Amino acid sequence: MMGSVKQENTTTIQLLHSALNQFPEKEAVYDGTRRLSYRELEEESNLIAAELNKMGVKRGDHIAVCLPNWYEFVVILFAIAKIGAVIVPFNTRYHESEIEYILNHAKVKVAFFTDEVDGNKLWDSFNKVYQQHNYLKHLITVRANTRLSIAYEEVVKHSEYSEFEKVEVSPDDVAIIMYTSGTTGNPKGAMLTHRNVAFTGSVSAEVLKCTSADVFLIQVPMFHIFGMVPGVLAAIAVGAKLVLTQEFKAENALKMVEQEKITVHHAVPTMFILELNHPNLEKYDLTSLRTGIVAAAPVPSEIIRKIREKMHCEVLSSYGMTEASPCLTFCTFEDDDLTRAETVGRAMPGVEVKIINPENGEEAGTGEVGEIVARGPGIMKGYYEMSEKTREVLSEDGWYRTGDLGTMDDKGNLQIVGRKNDLIIRGGFNIYPREIEEHFYKLDEVQEVAIIGLPDTVLGEVACAAVTLKKGAVLTEAKLKSYIKDKVADFKVPDIVTIVEELPMTASGKISKVQLQNKLKEKMAH
Ligand code: ATP
Ligand code: MG
Repeated sequence: MMGSVKQENTTTIQLLHSALNQFPEKEAVYDGTRRLSYRELEEESNLIAAELNKMGVKRGDHIAVCLPNWYEFVVILFAIAKIGAVIVPFNTRYHESEIEYILNHAKVKVAFFTDEVDGNKLWDSFNKVYQQHNYLKHLITVRANTRLSIAYEEVVKHSEYSEFEKVEVSPDDVAIIMYTSGTTGNPKGAMLTHRNVAFTGSVSAEVLKCTSADVFLIQVPMFHIFGMVPGVLAAIAVGAKLVLTQEFKAENALKMVEQEKITVHHAVPTMFILELNHPNLEKYDLTSLRTGIVAAAPVPSEIIRKIREKMHCEVLSSYGMTEASPCLTFCTFEDDDLTRAETVGRAMPGVEVKIINPENGEEAGTGEVGEIVARGPGIMKGYYEMSEKTREVLSEDGWYRTGDLGTMDDKGNLQIVGRKNDLIIRGGFNIYPREIEEHFYKLDEVQEVAIIGLPDTVLGEVACAAVTLKKGAVLTEAKLKSYIKDKVADFKVPDIVTIVEELPMTASGKISKVQLQNKLKEKMAH
């Protein structure tokens, strides 16, 4: 179907070097502050690699990076790979306790960070752990005002020394320990090998038919797998240009598309929703847009249609997770509208996906709801220092249990029903939140919606719809309820419909149903 899986035996360094050899002077990265060619990216990452080497960093050591989407992040990513060390990306929204938890858990030796992101005082958090624990040996600041540690800028400016101990990095070496989003609990550290991420990066570029002429807009954070692999590594794999934005602002994204002539636009559904609803959408020239991936959370089919209609961009939906580095399935340009709007497509080349009955492990029939399981070159080696959790999700013959529910049609197209954990069982009847959410998204006034279960003494659980409205829209809770009554069976009608100012989000831009549940439980108790 979609080409070969030629990149299966490669490393992130080989991806960079292949682009470097073909296009040394071509622009590789622009982040609003600086433009780097592939040659400059190579040279600057050598300087950082040499500095890490001097600090005593060895093959297999763990190095934290807690930065926004700045060009330095890309440089550091390759510097770490070149000396055979492992990058541990940190969410810039983590609070002190989360930073401490992951630094400890991953036994990080060196940390790159900046002093503050959006008021989050990272310097204080990292410094505190540095003072208290001696496994953390060095701090390196980037674009920071606080100068008590080594600064990235100094290293680059003063170091003439770009020699470092060359190590043979194998495709089976761990490249990244990527912590999951923590949507359902504590983040788990997925150990992703060079093979895992190089495979997924290059095959996703292949599915999107990317070439060196493409310009990628990366506004999903690089500390999340979506920004890192189908974003950064996919672009590098074909020698394309990366445009990084530090934080998501709908109008800035539109402006960047016009200014940098973006062709590949990746985003989570919420970002596309905000761009589509921006009053200045029409003012910008978006004709350079060609494609992009919309993923990481349920994608309302209305949104895919509107992206095509208003942005003239053929985005493809994809499904995956950190543990799969992350893509498992893709729609393709050949798919008809309905498939592209309603499904997340088929297993991508080299990957197997099937639906099983979670109780007995048997394969489910066509159209039957079951747990999605997958096998392929992108599946993680396991969770770092969580062998029991690893055994729960990874079978000996390589199948990974996703914890998501879905159905598959006779062509192999996957439809996501929701997470096993989000399933609401109301008086013995199953309610799949996704189905109800889709209906609400068809209303023009609705910005976002989340359906969650709340405990109930009689029914066990009841469904609650939390809805945010678009700016200036007027709609009552009663109207929302009567609307949905006409659409679905009576037991699926949410018992509670509440209009809220905003929905709680995880740092990677997903609606946090856990936080929403806690908030609403609290609200109900009063
Ligand atoms: P944690 O595992 O820590 O609870 P998380 O699962 O949200 O957090 P990620 O790895 O970032 O962490 O997200 C993967 C999950 O996102 C998938 O398991 C799935 O539930 C959801 N997801 C990803 N893509 C899609 C999609 N296209 N449609 C619906 N859901 C999706
Ligand atoms: Mg998960």
